[in-house]
Amino acid sequence: MFNKKSNIASIIFLFLVLLACSDKEEEYRRLEMLQDNGIPDLKNRIKNISRVLVVVPHADDELVAAGLVLYLKERGAIAHLLTLCDHGEPRQSELKCSAEKIGFDKYENGGFINNKWEDIIENKILFWKENKDKIKDVIQQKINSFQPEALVTYDSSIGATGHPEHLISAEIIEYLFKGNNNLVNFRPRYLFQISLPPKLEDFLVAKTNMYRQTKQIKKVDRMPSPNVAINIEKYWDVKNLAGFCHKSQLNALKRAYLIYDKSYKKLHPKTFSKEYYRLLENK
Ligand SMILES: [Zn+2]
Repeated sequence: MFNKKSNIASIIFLFLVLLACSDKEEEYRRLEMLQDNGIPDLKNRIKNISRVLVVVPHADDELVAAGLVLYLKERGAIAHLLTLCDHGEPRQSELKCSAEKIGFDKYENGGFINNKWEDIIENKILFWKENKDKIKDVIQQKINSFQPEALVTYDSSIGATGHPEHLISAEIIEYLFKGNNNLVNFRPRYLFQISLPPKLEDFLVAKTNMYRQTKQIKKVDRMPSPNVAINIEKYWDVKNLAGFCHKSQLNALKRAYLIYDKSYKKLHPKTFSKEYYRLLENK
């Protein structure tokens, strides 16, 4: 009797697992349709890049551009990462682990305050707004000392998710990139702004109040349209490994499809096969 019961329980369990698997596979198939295959490949758009600097506010933001960094490193670039917020532990150690997995040659932190979530969602990040000059100085100094040809950060329209710290850092970097172009010793030639095609933007970032609020404040409809894409299928192993360094953020990263369980190691890279950027160029 006991065996019979446990057999039935096993069959029901197996059935539920199979059902969950096929649901997930169906979901991935649906998500694959959100990609835009019409956006030109980065190949042929850029000349040799020997130094790339990624500047983002938060530990785990570096994951969003990990494919681009791995692509450029494969072609010989030295990559540095500057994050702006000091989150304290364990997040600083998680970031160090992730930066090492991605292969950043150097990682630095600006030491700025990461605002409280209650303030962020109401756009009350006073410290950041009042200290734009200090933030600008830290980024400028890093650009001066490292002399990168390429900068990578969020878009300056919405800051991807509408996070005001994404936006402020992106605005400062775009300002430096465009404003210093005439200086003889200013090297950056490319600015990669992380972006998404509309269908993916709607699915991945556009449903939150923070996104809607920033869109209203900035009076924009969307992130800037991406004008280059990179196939990152072969970099997902490393990107996922780096993602799992952020142990305190795993739920959020899963929701953002920035990490996946082993059982989806074929499906996930094939579905989320691209990173998209708005590429700005200095002449
Ligand atoms: Zn962030």
